[in-house]
Amino acid sequence: MRPIIATVSRAALAHNLAQVRRYAPKSSVMAVVKANGYGHGLLNVAQGLKAADAFAVLNPAEAIALRDAGYQQPILLLEGVFAAAQLAEVDRYRLDMVVHHNEQITWLMQAVLTAPIRIFLKLDSGMHRLGFQPAEYAQALQQLTDCRNVSEVVLMTHFANADHVTGVRDPMQLISQCMSVDRHPRSLANSAAIIMHPQTHADWVRPGIMLYGATPVADQSAESLGLKPAMQLHSALIAVQPLVAGQGLGYGHLFTATQPMRVGIVACGYADGYPRHALSGTPVAVQGVMTRTLGRVSMDMLAVDISDIPAAQVGSPVELWGAQVPVDVVASHSGTIGYELLCAVSSRVPLQLVP
Ligand SMILES: *Cc1c(COP(=O)(O)O)cnc(C)c1O
Repeated sequence: MRPIIATVSRAALAHNLAQVRRYAPKSSVMAVVKANGYGHGLLNVAQGLKAADAFAVLNPAEAIALRDAGYQQPILLLEGVFAAAQLAEVDRYRLDMVVHHNEQITWLMQAVLTAPIRIFLKLDSGMHRLGFQPAEYAQALQQLTDCRNVSEVVLMTHFANADHVTGVRDPMQLISQCMSVDRHPRSLANSAAIIMHPQTHADWVRPGIMLYGATPVADQSAESLGLKPAMQLHSALIAVQPLVAGQGLGYGHLFTATQPMRVGIVACGYADGYPRHALSGTPVAVQGVMTRTLGRVSMDMLAVDISDIPAAQVGSPVELWGAQVPVDVVASHSGTIGYELLCAVSSRVPLQLVP
């Protein structure tokens, strides 16, 4: 069997959930587990996060998988339903849903449900992606509170710039204008807002990335925020190559040796989800020793410098990211963010839940 594996730590997930509660002690926690639990496996993360007060997903199919696995918490569909017919599943599986446009209100008013459902009514507070404009918000709220299919309306928004110090100032002003009705609960904060803007915590926080132990804030490491990586992406050396000065390595000879070297070939490539954009020199650990990648990442393999790790040989363990190599560091060497790397771990990499 190919040696690559991604282990998912239940203890790290539970620890990160406890950290969310320390950051936002007065709020209920809705764990965002969309995108297959940010690449960790939906049911893996649900086990680690089973103490969450609710879950949030994108598709009814993900919500149904959670219900079928026995989870009784509220489950929110983050974009609501995509067609009126999906309201039958919302009804059958007792899901909560976001409402972000008028058609969804029409579908709700016309539906025949067995019992009313809870709605998260989305305000566009400046992202200009989903949600009602401030001037339309009160009318949408009125329509929903009057609708027999609606049990409760939670007022909701999603920030465009929560990772900046002043990023929620204007949105919070809009929110206080549009959400002045006190009897409705509110849900505003993603991970960055939970960490940086306590004034946004409100009734329900919606953490995603921090639960997985990666940072939502570019200039602060996950470790400094008290988070533990939930995923360890591990593989092993499948070959060792000598290089003499002047020899090139891999596609395009992107790396050329200037002195004699030992190179390890790792069973991990971009088809596994390791970024092809990772620069030569991206940190990696071989047998617990920090070193660097060399040259271009190929589909199934990448090369690492083991010149100073004499014990390294075929079969030596390699950490691509995890406890020793933060995923955020690999991301910053690849021109992206930890979110993308975690979500992009490919289906050919086995995911294993560990205690
Ligand atoms: C994905 C998502 C979140 C979680 O965001 P993080 O930055 O991962 O914490 C919260 N709210 C909404 C609406 C989302 O789509």
